[in-house]
Amino acid sequence: MDVTPILDSLNEPQRKAVTGPAEPMLVIAGAGSGKTRVLTHRIAWLIDVENISPHNLLAVTFTNKAAKEMRHRIEELLNIPVNNLWIGTFHGIAHRFLRRHAKEAGLEQSFQIIDSDDQLRIIKRLIKSLGLDDDRHNPKEIQYFINKQKDEGLRADQIDNKNDVDLIHMIKLYQQYQDICNQGSLVDFAELLLSTYELFRDNPQLLEKYHSTFKHLLVDEFQDTNSIQYALLRLLTGVKSTLFAVGDEDQSIYRWRGAKVEHIAQFQKDFPATKIITLEQNYRSTANILKAANAIITKNEDRIPKELWTDGEQGELIKIYAAFNERDEANFIVNRISDWEKQGNKRTEAAIIYRSNAQSRALEEALISASMPYRIYGGLRFFERSEIKDALAYLRLVSHKNDDASFERIVNKPTRGIGAKALDNIRKCAKDNNLSLWKAACFLAKNDPTGTKYNKINHFISLINRMDRETESLEIHDKIDHLINLSELIDLYQKEKGERGLTRIENLEELVTAAKSFDVDNEDEMTMLDAFLAHAALESGEEQAGAWEDCVQLMTMHSAKGLEFPLVFMCGMEDGLFPHQRNILDSKTLQEERRLCYVGITRAEQTLYLTFAEQRRLHGQDNHAPPSRFMAEIPSELKDEIRQKATGHYQSHIHQTKKTPASEAKLPVQLGQRAHHKKFGPGIILAYEGQGVHARVQVNFENVGTKWLVLSYANLELK
Ligand code: ATP
Ligand code: MG
Repeated sequence: MDVTPILDSLNEPQRKAVTGPAEPMLVIAGAGSGKTRVLTHRIAWLIDVENISPHNLLAVTFTNKAAKEMRHRIEELLNIPVNNLWIGTFHGIAHRFLRRHAKEAGLEQSFQIIDSDDQLRIIKRLIKSLGLDDDRHNPKEIQYFINKQKDEGLRADQIDNKNDVDLIHMIKLYQQYQDICNQGSLVDFAELLLSTYELFRDNPQLLEKYHSTFKHLLVDEFQDTNSIQYALLRLLTGVKSTLFAVGDEDQSIYRWRGAKVEHIAQFQKDFPATKIITLEQNYRSTANILKAANAIITKNEDRIPKELWTDGEQGELIKIYAAFNERDEANFIVNRISDWEKQGNKRTEAAIIYRSNAQSRALEEALISASMPYRIYGGLRFFERSEIKDALAYLRLVSHKNDDASFERIVNKPTRGIGAKALDNIRKCAKDNNLSLWKAACFLAKNDPTGTKYNKINHFISLINRMDRETESLEIHDKIDHLINLSELIDLYQKEKGERGLTRIENLEELVTAAKSFDVDNEDEMTMLDAFLAHAALESGEEQAGAWEDCVQLMTMHSAKGLEFPLVFMCGMEDGLFPHQRNILDSKTLQEERRLCYVGITRAEQTLYLTFAEQRRLHGQDNHAPPSRFMAEIPSELKDEIRQKATGHYQSHIHQTKKTPASEAKLPVQLGQRAHHKKFGPGIILAYEGQGVHARVQVNFENVGTKWLVLSYANLELK
C-alpha cells in the first residue's frame, strides 16, 4: 500500500518524477502523458511528505486559469488550503515580486502596468514630440523592437548598434520610451520580466533571501519559455534550490513570439546533474486519436523520436467532414454538439478549435442561431474585437452622422494629428449648442476664421463625406470593403508587426464576409444596413456565457495548449488556412504548424472531428482550397469520411475508396442547374446547404451576382 494517496493512480515513471530527490529534473514527454499531473502531484508530495512549506515552492503555469486549477487540485489531494503557495504565470509572479520590492527595483510603490495599446500610444506621442513623421518611424515597428529587446534581456545601452544608422536610431527611441515610462512609473508587460530579472541580478542579498525561500521551482510547458523567462528562472534557482520542469518539444508553438525550445538543452548544460524522465503512456486519448497524432508529428524532421501509447480502447475513427462551405461546416458542428447533448453529455465537454481568430465568426453565428451558449476561451467574440468596432464605427458614422460614440472612436483613428484642444472645443460646442459632435465639428470647421485651426478636422469631415458619396449605392459588403480601404485601417494594422496585426487584418476582411452572407434574407438596402448594424451591436452586447454555464468552448489552437475535451472539432482543415499560408513555404514555420496540429489533435479524449470546406468565404473572398495536407498524413484506416445526404442525414463512408463529391449527392436542386428569381432574374445554382425549411441555395445571378437564398422562400423557378 502507498504511504500517501498522492501516489495512487500514477504509473511508475510518473512516481519516480513525483518522488524524486531534490535534484534538477526534466520531464520530457508527449501530450496527455501526465506532465501537468506529475507537476501537481510533485507539489502535493513535497508539501505532504517532504514537509516543505507551500511558501517555499514556486510554480509557473501557462495561464492564470491553469494556476487556479492547479492550486485547486493540490488542495484536493492534500485536503488543506495552500494559500501561500507561489503559483502563477511568469508575468503574474514577476508582478508580485515588483510590488514587494518596488523600491529596490527603482519603481514607485504605486507603479502602473500598461498594456500593449497604452504602450503604443506612448510611442506615438514620443514620435510626435520629436517631430518625426510616423510613416518613416512606424510606431508598431518601434514597439516590436522594444519588446523584442526586452524579451532578450537587453536595455538600450546594452544593444550592439553595429554602426548601423537605423539601429542607432531605434536604440535611441527605445531609451527615450523607457525614460517616459520611468518618469510616469509605468511598466509594460516585457518590462515586468526584465525589471524582475534586474532586481535580482543587482540585489544579491535579496536574491539570496529568495534562494533560501524557494527550495523548489516547478515549471509547466517549459518548451515555450523565452530568453528572459529562462534567465529569470536560472537566476532564481540557487545552489540549494532545485528546478523541475516539464515540457514537450513537439508542442513548442510560440517560436514566433520568442520562445526557444533550445532551453531544454540549455537546462541540461546549466544543471549537469539533471535527471531526465520520459513518460510514454498517454491517458487522455483513444488509441486511434493517438495514432493519428503520432503519424502527423513523425513527419517533422529534426525531432527526437518518441512514441506514445495507450492501453485504452481503440475508440472511434477520426471523422472527416467535407462541408460545402463555412456555414455548412458550422451547422454540421452545431448539430453534432446537439446530438452529443441529447446523449446526456455536457456542452462544456465539447471544444471547437481553429487556426485563425477570424474563423470564429461563422461558428458563433451558427451557435447563436441554435441558441447554444458558448464561450471563447482566451479571446473576444468577433464583434467585440477592437478592429471590428473601428470598422463598424466608420459605417455607423457614414450612415448616421450624429452617432457621437462612433465619432469619438474614429475621429483620430488612424491618427490624423487632430489635437486634444480641437477635440475639446468640438465637445464643448456640441454640448453648449445641443449638437452632435459631427455637427459641431462641421460648424467649427466652417467658421474657422484662419482656416488653419480646424484644418485636420476638415480633412476628416471631407473623408467621411467622400465615403458617404462613394459608397452610397453599394451593397453592404462592398460598402464596408470600400470604407475599410478609405479609412486606411488596413495600413494601420499592416504596420503592426507580428501575428497581432495580421489577425486584425484577417478579422477586418472577415467582416466583409459577414456582411456578404448577411444579405441573404434582406431585400431593402437601407433597412439591411441598419439590420446589420443592429445585429453586430446585439451580438457584441450579448454577455459571454458565464464560466459556470454549460457552454461550448471555442478557442484557437494556440490557446488550447494543455487542455483536454471529450469531444473536439478541428475546423477549417484547408491548406492555406491550416497550415497557414504564410508558413507553408519555409520548412521551419511549416514544422511549427505541424506541431500546432499535433497539439490540436491531442486535445481530444474520445471523439475527434476534422472538418474542411470545399468553398470558404473568409477575409471577404471565396476560396477553394485543397484539404489540409495534415489530414493526408493520417493513415486512411484511422479515418471515417462522412458526407451529407440529401435527406439531411449524414452518411459514413468508411473505407470507401472513391468519395462522392458534394456536387454528385442527390439534392432537391441540382448544382449547376439554371434557375429564375422574380427580382434577381436568371442565374445558376452553385451550392446548397442545410435541410428542410432552412435549406439554402447559392445562386450566381447574371445581373446581380452571387446570393444565398432560403429555398423555401425564394420561389425559384427551376429549369
Ligand atoms: P499536455 O502535453 O497536453 O499538457 P500532459 O502531459 O500535461 O498533457 P496531463 O494533462 O497531465 O498531461 O494528463 C492527461 C490526462 O491523463 C489527464 O486527464 C490526467 O488526469 C490523466 N492521467 C495522467 N496520468 C494518469 C494516470 N497515471 N492514471 C490515470 N490518469 C492519468
Ligand atoms: Mg500539460
